[in-house]
Amino acid sequence: MMKIAFFGLGNMGGPMAANLLKAGFEVNVFDLFPKAVEQLVALGATTADTPKDIVQDCDVVISMLPAGKHVRELYIGEDGLINYLNVGTLVIDSSTIDSATAQSVAAILANKQINFIDAPVSGGVAGATAGTLSFMTGGSLSSFNQAKPLLEVMGKNIFHAGEVGAGQVAKVCNNMLLSILMVGTSEALQLGVDNGLDPTVLSEIMSKSSGSNWTLDVYNPCPGVMPTSPASNEYQGGFMTDLMLKDLGLAMDTAVGSQSTTPLGALTRNLYSIHQKSGNGKKDFSSIFEQFSSK
Ligand code: NAD
Repeated sequence: MMKIAFFGLGNMGGPMAANLLKAGFEVNVFDLFPKAVEQLVALGATTADTPKDIVQDCDVVISMLPAGKHVRELYIGEDGLINYLNVGTLVIDSSTIDSATAQSVAAILANKQINFIDAPVSGGVAGATAGTLSFMTGGSLSSFNQAKPLLEVMGKNIFHAGEVGAGQVAKVCNNMLLSILMVGTSEALQLGVDNGLDPTVLSEIMSKSSGSNWTLDVYNPCPGVMPTSPASNEYQGGFMTDLMLKDLGLAMDTAVGSQSTTPLGALTRNLYSIHQKSGNGKKDFSSIFEQFSSK
């Protein structure tokens, strides 16, 4: 049986590791928060005191960490895992980080014949729990094929976007578009409300017309329109403004690197920055609606 080492048991990594355990894999887990580790051990995971003991004899390492600096530190930092992984180990990093970091970590690991794919996800905590995440991967086809059966345990849609770093590029393109759609949908809904329309009726009209999009149809940002959306639950749960702002920063860095023109992405990043500074960082990203609705 394949032996997996899993680093980062937070909101996303915890349920992802739990799904691997449910599928019968042997999973050795590690997090800086002992509570997070305890929860997975209660589900059948094993653990150890140090990262180097965690990866002993493992075939695959999966990481789900906050940012690029954590990924670099874990694998190639002082006393990093690179010193302890066997030749041929597959590393799957599912954290959302910049593609340049993914590429540099992959290149350094490759010197020791350790294979790396970047595999950021979409689908949030609900998708991680249900095992329905979308994975956008970058790396060699052989590493992708090796990772696929594991990714299928944690996700529903598994994509190979290209070489190492391509998964991260796909992820920031998607989230930049998502945030632009969210801002546009909020703006349009509030324009209707300001002119006497019922937002539920307006949403129904637009979702059957050319304005239809996911933020309108599935994740409506106006409170009361959809009982199940975070908007109807005081913008709790879902995908935090802080995380969307992080992804928009990565999208802007990517655009600078490729000299791409992204005026709506830049505007949207600034709107989310204002929104965060107004104390909304922990609210779901659809709360940007309040920037338009509060008078
Ligand atoms: P989180 O902060 O809940 O979890 C991160 C975990 O990593 C924490 O428990 C932390 O203790 C642990 N950690 C940090 N350094 C570590 C190390 N060296 N070794 C082991 N553990 C370490 O974050 P999250 O919401 O689970 O997000 C993880 C990643 O997934 C981020 O890159 C985020 O952008 C991305 N993401 C999050 C969501 C979401 O909805 N939360 C959706 C898609 C992608």
